[in-house]
Formats: sequence, C-alpha cells, structure tokens
Amino acid sequence: MKILSARYVVPISSAPIENGAIAFEKDKIIAVGTQAEIIEKFPETEIESLGEAAILPGFVNAHSHLEITAMRGFVDEFDDDFTSWLLTLTKVRGEILTDEDVQNAAILGAIEGAHAGVTCFGDIGRFGKNGFEALKAVGLRGVVFQETEFSPDDRTADADFAKLKEKFLALRETETNLVKAGISPHSPYTVGARLFENIAAYAIENDVKISVHAAESDEENELMQKGTGFFAGIYQKYGFEWRTPNCSSIEFLDKLGVLRAKPLLAHCVKVSERDLELIKASDSRIAHCPKSNAKFGHGIAPFEKFLDAAIKTGFGSDSMASNNTCDILEEARFATLFARNLPARKRFLQAEEIIETATFGGAKALGLEDEIGTLEAGKQADLAVVSLENIAQMPVHDVYSALLFASNARDVRLTLVAGEEVFRDGGEARKIDEREIKSKMREISQRMKS
Ligand SMILES: [Zn+2]
Repeated sequence: MKILSARYVVPISSAPIENGAIAFEKDKIIAVGTQAEIIEKFPETEIESLGEAAILPGFVNAHSHLEITAMRGFVDEFDDDFTSWLLTLTKVRGEILTDEDVQNAAILGAIEGAHAGVTCFGDIGRFGKNGFEALKAVGLRGVVFQETEFSPDDRTADADFAKLKEKFLALRETETNLVKAGISPHSPYTVGARLFENIAAYAIENDVKISVHAAESDEENELMQKGTGFFAGIYQKYGFEWRTPNCSSIEFLDKLGVLRAKPLLAHCVKVSERDLELIKASDSRIAHCPKSNAKFGHGIAPFEKFLDAAIKTGFGSDSMASNNTCDILEEARFATLFARNLPARKRFLQAEEIIETATFGGAKALGLEDEIGTLEAGKQADLAVVSLENIAQMPVHDVYSALLFASNARDVRLTLVAGEEVFRDGGEARKIDEREIKSKMREISQRMKS
C-alpha cells in the first residue's frame, strides 16, 4: 500500500480536503480523507508528503492525434486555410515520415501527456497502432480509435469497411487493461453515408466505442447543408459520388443511426439547439477543443450549453499540429474564458465545474467513469499532483480557482496511472528513456526541414 498526502486532495466526487491524503494498493484507491483520518486507519504505512500541492484525478485528454506530434508547428502557415492544412499534413504524414518516426513522435506526445498530468487519452489515429503503442510504452490509459481513410463514396463503402474492421481487430488483439481500441469514422465530409451506417451497426452490435469529428467548421456545414464548397469540388474533380444530406452534421449522424452508438463527437462548434437536443437525447458525448477551434478560427463552441444540458463533455487538445500543446489545464482555462466572454452567455462558468470537466467529464466522455475521473475507494489510482508552490499561484484561497486560473501543465510534479508512476519531476521513475526519444525527435525535425 502507498499513501500520498498534500495540502489539498481534490476528489471531484466530494469537496476538496485540506491536509488530505490518499491510500492506494496496487492499481486501486483504498481510502481518501484527511491526513489524520488516513493515519488513524493505516498507522503502519509510511506517508509520502507532497507539501503545497493538489492531488486530483488524472486529467483526461478526450481528443488527440498522438501520431502527428511531429507536425507541431510545421503547418502553422496554413492555419487560416483548413483544407490546405489537412492536405499538407496528410501528405507529410504519408510521404516524409517513416513508420518509426511516427511511432517515436507518438511516444513523445504521450510523454508530454504524462508530464502534464494526463493519465488517459481518447486518441484518434489513421495508423491507429502508433498512438496505441505510445500509450502502452509510456504507461498511460486510453481508448485509441482506428480512423477511416478518405472514403466519401458509397460504392467503395463495403470494401473500405472490411479493411477498417481488419485494422480495428488487429488493435483489439493487443489491448491491455489500460489501452483499448475503438473506431473513428473521421467526419461527415470524408466518410460516406453507407460507411457510417456500417460502422454504427457494427459498433452497436459489438459494443465498440466510436469517435467522430463533427460540426467543426463553416466549410463542413456548407457542404452538409448546401453541397457546395471545397470538398464538393474535390468530389467532383475526382469522380466521387456524394449526395448532399441538406441538414446539419449532427442531424445527418442521427439519420444514419450513428448517434445510437453514443459517439464521442469532437468539436461541435456549429451546433444548433436541435443538434444539442439530439446529442443529449442519444447520450452522445462531446470532446470540447477550444484552443484548436480558436487556432483555426473555426469559432467558439457553446460550451456553457453543453454543461447546462448535462451532456457528457471532456476537453481535448486535438493534435499538436493544431494546438500546439497538450495541457488540459490550459485547455480548461481557455474554455472558461471564451465562454465567459461570449455576449450570449447566461451565466459565469465556475472553476469547480471546469476542473470536474477536465477529469470526470473526460472520463464520462470516454465511457470510463466507473474506473476513473474521481478519487474514491475502489476506483483506479490515476492521479495528477499539481504543485501550488509557484509564486504566480500564491496565495491559494480556493484550490479550484488556483488550478484553473493560475496553473498549467508545467506545475505538474507527479503522475500515476493504475498506481504506477509514469512521471515524477526530477526523478527517474519513468517507463521510457525520455532523452532518447527527444534526440530522435530532433533528428526527425531536421529531416522534415530539408
Ligand atoms: Zn481531431
């Protein structure tokens, strides 16, 4: 058994505990309480005191693309042109980077997560296996969604689905207790109706988690509602058959039965009241990615409405090419500030509910709320320890406020997944040689530049 204590323990499921402690045995939390209570319960066990810090459930990054971490800062010049951005990224990922490069970059991204107190990822990968292996190598938890290829045409849907299923089943065979496989039909503008239907039926029948990019941009909305714009041009040019659904992306997913699979919907920037009702009624979930949305100028998603409708919502960093950091505290802060600054806001989002979104919300978004997201006896010992010692955080009057408005990933001191240390500031207790991965990353970037 191990016991950690700190100035604050923030269980999320109950009020913060001052001078708190948490006891865990192997991967499971045994008890949470004040230091005095825990000492009384387990007088024989030594306590490691973490001092002026907050122990909270590990952060959940509900939407990432670890396999494109090497593209951090590489395509920023195309940020104002999402389609060129996507095409350049796809080209470099497919043509310049080797499989080994992609793997090492994905591992670097997972290490970045561990440093940031992220214990669980909802990761989407065109290659799938790279994100999967990265989480395993670093010792993190997650669901890795095997993504579809560009497949807007119903005529190739059945063949495309067979290939996708093969890749998904290969991932599933290498699942561990911590890392599970799902499927990601990429988006309504790259996946045709029939392939969506195939995936939805398969997911429901086999209890497979799915995640979809949806209602992200005006371009997507234009294509769905009117059948015009950039993607319509691509379909025409290359002879893809495409029928305009003449409705929103969310209505489209509803009609195709995709919402019945309770998908994790990434972005949801362009959503109507009707869309939100459909999401809520179907128990679909949202990965809110405020920084990625802002970096592309896609707009501000109605985060306050997500919370007010009690839609299961977590934060996502999106890829490092579109953010460019994996920092869930920063994501949370952006989300709050954007929401508070909208003229149409009805209320001020509060720090407590936002820290809950960053932890328990993400767990719910990934369907893992029975295992992680709060500090309670019986749950997994997935912990993030955020130091509160920095001068820029003092004084701490309210721990939620200090975490949300005055802390970031670089304040994280210790990260545990299933009771195992995956990151300790200044320590050696890591599962992977970080220096080696960093030096490989420098090599990769040299090659990308030339
Ligand atoms: Zn994404």
